[in-house]
Amino acid sequence: MIKTVGILGGGQLARMLAQAGRPMGLEFVFLDPAEDACAGELGEHIRAEWDDESALKKLAQLADVVTFDFENVPEKAASLIAASCLVYPPPGALFASQDRLREKEMMQAMEVPVASYYAVSSRPDLVTAVEKIGLPCVLKTRRFGYDGKGQVIIRFQEDMERAWQMLGDHELICEEFVSFDAECSIIAARGQDGQTVFWPLTRNLHREGILAISVAPFFTRQLQSGAEALILKLLDHLRYTGVMALELFLKEDQLIANEFAPRVHNSGHWTSNGAHTSQFENHLRAICGLPLGTGESRLKALMFNLLGQMPGSAMQAVMEGVYWHDYHKAARVGRKLGHVTVTAESEVELRAKAVQVASVLGLAAELNLEAVTCL
Ligand code: AMP
Repeated sequence: MIKTVGILGGGQLARMLAQAGRPMGLEFVFLDPAEDACAGELGEHIRAEWDDESALKKLAQLADVVTFDFENVPEKAASLIAASCLVYPPPGALFASQDRLREKEMMQAMEVPVASYYAVSSRPDLVTAVEKIGLPCVLKTRRFGYDGKGQVIIRFQEDMERAWQMLGDHELICEEFVSFDAECSIIAARGQDGQTVFWPLTRNLHREGILAISVAPFFTRQLQSGAEALILKLLDHLRYTGVMALELFLKEDQLIANEFAPRVHNSGHWTSNGAHTSQFENHLRAICGLPLGTGESRLKALMFNLLGQMPGSAMQAVMEGVYWHDYHKAARVGRKLGHVTVTAESEVELRAKAVQVASVLGLAAELNLEAVTCL
């Protein structure tokens, strides 16, 4: 029986996993180099670098199963732990997601639609890629990019030089810029016995590459089943256990995959308050070999990410069906510090509450309007 869950990474995702797991009787141990890792309040924090073998061995010894709160865990660290402890999701899924080129090749091979792309490792490669793809396109680092970091949009020929100057010393991928109608994500959980649960498709609005707002459910039945079929291919191929998220572009009723995350995902935070079972609980259920709960919505939900600064506690208005989550992280420009989830029985009620919360947050009118009109 599993008693202690080890997590590589001690950020807000690890924190929310522990918040979901403690009522289930689970204990947590985190490995994270940061002194102030915010999950540390909820379990033992081994403060060590990713290549510290004795710390990795200690984590493997203390934990009955190990999982991740971010995907850039070095391959060596994950393999070292897997040699002596159960690790879910399988490290192979982690490695596939760490390199945008490998990830796209894998998805293409299993007929998951992706935007056209070319590998770029030199200036002439970039010229060829831009010629083949056409403008606009997006130049991205293959590794370590997140929240829009490590990517530049090339709109005009003149942008190419600037993009190369900014990113040229990395291995790169150049992608077609998808002029999408909407962005969305599908999240699924798979148990060790193959039981698979999906949450409703979630619509996502990004600002400067960072998720700003998620709204769920966002679907027609046809879109939902299309998205489920795509993520199922990845789950099968990777012999997956745990929660996975697949980020998608929606263009003219077609779903195009952007990237997958082998972990719980920011666009699924609403599930803690708006679904029958949260992504966090089901991830733990999956990796501990327990049966999964349904991902169905209980309510309509809208989540605002709280970036850079938390509203003061007096501002966090107590409203029925509004849930404030504070990760207890030090404030820094653009940093994810918390989120607020608004839930309601109907879209009309959700919209009314979302307007109130957006005004408390002082969100830019444009974002506020978009959040409300995308319902
Ligand atoms: P990523 O780091 O790949 O998840 O990108 C962050 C955000 O940048 C995405 O959610 C999109 O809003 C935007 N983006 C990334 N790649 C593309 C693309 N090929 N076409 C259009 N927008 C993109």
